[in-house]
Amino acid sequence: MSAQSLSGSCLSFFKEQLPLQQYNSWIKPLIFEIDGEKLVLTAPNSFTLRIVQERFLPEISKRALPFFSSPPQIELRIEKRGSKVTVPPVQQTSSKPIAAPTTKAVKNPNKLNASLVFDTFVTGKANQLAHAAAIQVAETPGVAYNPLFIYGGVGLGKTHLLQAIGNLVSKQNPQARICYIHATNYISGVVRAFQTKNFDEFKQFYNSLDLLLIDDIQFIADKPGTQQEFFYTLNSLIDTNKQVVITCDTFPKEITGIEPRLTSRFTCGLTVAIEPPGLEMRVAILLQKSAASGSPISEDVAFFIAKHVRSNIRELEGALNRIEAYARFHKRAISIELAKEALKDLLAAQNKQVSMENIQKTVADFYRIKIVDLLSKKRTRVIARPRQIAMCLARELTQLSLPEIGNAFGGRDHSTVLHACKTIESLRNSDSALNADFNLLNQTLRG
Ligand code: ADP
Ligand code: MG
Repeated sequence: MSAQSLSGSCLSFFKEQLPLQQYNSWIKPLIFEIDGEKLVLTAPNSFTLRIVQERFLPEISKRALPFFSSPPQIELRIEKRGSKVTVPPVQQTSSKPIAAPTTKAVKNPNKLNASLVFDTFVTGKANQLAHAAAIQVAETPGVAYNPLFIYGGVGLGKTHLLQAIGNLVSKQNPQARICYIHATNYISGVVRAFQTKNFDEFKQFYNSLDLLLIDDIQFIADKPGTQQEFFYTLNSLIDTNKQVVITCDTFPKEITGIEPRLTSRFTCGLTVAIEPPGLEMRVAILLQKSAASGSPISEDVAFFIAKHVRSNIRELEGALNRIEAYARFHKRAISIELAKEALKDLLAAQNKQVSMENIQKTVADFYRIKIVDLLSKKRTRVIARPRQIAMCLARELTQLSLPEIGNAFGGRDHSTVLHACKTIESLRNSDSALNADFNLLNQTLRG
């Protein structure tokens, strides 16, 4: 039997099962060969190989069965490119990292932070894929996925990964022209280029980069001039195989106020999410951070903190710092008892916490709708708006994470919750009646 029909069977199966982007990234590039009683699968790179191994192998071996007399052994290989490791092309007058000519007024906006590296980045289920993709991109910039688009909520490690990519590329190729820039600084750059009519210089700077790391791209929403400029830069870099990595607080399609041609360009490489860390991962992060700071905490203490600080990694760090400072000040060893004292305010605030049921009931009563409707899939405005308000209140008044809130509202995605919060936040600025409702509900719930 031919490898071709085996490959055909797998391709058509996965094409139906997977979102197109995943199919194109993981399945389509695979080469299927039959070697006696063995199936040889060749992937274009180690990252794809790993994903295939972790996620698709059982299904592939099932599809392969009819082509062999007994269940075949599967051998995984990486395609040999013939050429050596690909590194970004070296520019004549390059040095790293370089300051954009148009951002002089901002203090070192493009400098890489040398402490944000892969070595200190703890991985777990929540960020595995993003981490693997980031490493892959740093090892073969411009080759693997372009652009790499990393999205997730605040304090989950997007900036850390972005900087880690820059640091690794710069270590491997000290000549590479690397720019890390926060989107707000990029916007200032565009504005300044407009004012000083220095567009050529601005364009030239970005077009000459080997690696552009742009952080928090959601800030360019509702800035058409910046978007147009960024669209050109993005295209020009991608067309010349220069790596671009973008971070954002939401999935590209959910960003409002950005031109569709730009968001669709965001997704033409690889899009990966960073999720809020689970309990074990929070513990691992605390253990790693405390060890790194020279005062390692015990697992008991780490579990205690991790159970109470759930929202994101930045807050975990904050809690740990507070405990360490408290211990130093009182010259005591870190124990659960001490952690309790140090985090007293935080724990007290949690005890006063409002329950999700209470929020849903109060909002439903207020708008005279049923709780079941609030949790349903109904999307009419009279239901959807109160639902968004309730989600936004839950975000403010509970310690629940976005996915947990989403879950409590009929199993919705965390990005839906985030979108709801942003919508309400912006409506509160423009719609005074809604703002008054929101404040009233907020006060009622806080008691
Ligand atoms: P974001 O950009 O997503 O808001 P950051 O990258 O600024 O988040 O991360 C917040 C803090 O948490 C930083 O100090 C960062 O070093 C730390 N951090 C985030 N993710 C991890 C991780 N997986 N392992 C270790 N530290 C992390
Ligand atoms: Mg950040």
